[in-house]
Parts: sequence; structure tokens; C-alpha cells
Amino acid sequence: MGRVVLDPGHGGIDPGAVAGGVKEVDLCLSITVKVETVLMNMGHSVTHYVAPVGVPDSLAARLAYANKVKPDAFVSIHANAGPPTGNGFEVIVNPSPTDLYVAKSRRLADRILAVLDNRTPGKNRGRKEMGLYVLNQKRPCCLVEVGFLTNKKERGYITSKEGKLAIAEAIAWGINGFLS
Ligand SMILES: [Zn+2]
Repeated sequence: MGRVVLDPGHGGIDPGAVAGGVKEVDLCLSITVKVETVLMNMGHSVTHYVAPVGVPDSLAARLAYANKVKPDAFVSIHANAGPPTGNGFEVIVNPSPTDLYVAKSRRLADRILAVLDNRTPGKNRGRKEMGLYVLNQKRPCCLVEVGFLTNKKERGYITSKEGKLAIAEAIAWGINGFLS
């Protein structure tokens, strides 16, 4: 069993992407809580970062939280924004830390992608490598973009009760597979 930190995107006064009346921050938190429940039912120790209310979001505070808890895996959960036709899920890994952690982060990302691919209807955009600040960690970590809020059809799925649950279960099973 492992220790996991989940990082729901955005918070405080920062809503993230907003489309079709949906705020990214709300969707991310909703999915995060579901991922947390599934992982805890599997016996993992899970917490998620809680952004303070009414202040600008701080990626440094998220990093500090991760460095305090020292989890076996850190997974940030976001939804994408782009052109109206953009669709699909992807998982981002930061290639800048030492080789050991990058290799593990890639494995974590690929596990999550594989289950999302099996269990949800979205297009698999694959693993991306980007020097994201919040992924600048010496531990396995990745950032999941669950789909595009700016795509009307995909927004319908990723914000539906069934879609959120399927996505959350897929992320949880992916993390569990990595930790097993
Ligand atoms: Zn975001």
C-alpha cells in the first residue's frame, strides 16, 4: 500500500478554465475526491491539497505540501482548454528531475493512460513531457488532463456523473497499478 497526494487543479480565486458554465476548479475537485475514495478503499493512504479560500492559487504551496507529506506518488488533476474541436485526455511528466524519478513518473503516467484508454471513451493523446513547475519533484509525479472543457461534447461527458466516476476510477486504478 502506498501514500498518495492528489492535487486538484486551481483554487482560491483562480477558477482555471471556464467553459459552458463549468469551472475547471470545481470539476478537478469533484474528480479528485472520487479518486481519493477509490484509492482509500483499496487501502492506500491518500490526501489532497486544499487551496486556501480568497487568495491567488500558489503552486509553491502545492509543492511544499507534497514535500511535507512525501508521498510515493503525486498526481495533479486538471481539465484542458483549447480550440472547440480539441478533445481527449493526456498525462504530463516533467523531464527535468533525475533519471530515476523521470522513469518512474513515466511508468505512473502510462499506467493511468492505459486504464483511461480502456475505461473511458475519450481519445488517448498520450504522454507529454513538459517542465511544469508543480511537477518539479523528487518522486513519481504526473499531471492528468482529463479532457477538454472547451469541447462541448467532451465537456458533457467529463462533467457527467457517470463520466466523472469512470475517469476517477481509471486514475485510481492506474495509480494502484503503479504502486502494486
Ligand atoms: Zn488546469
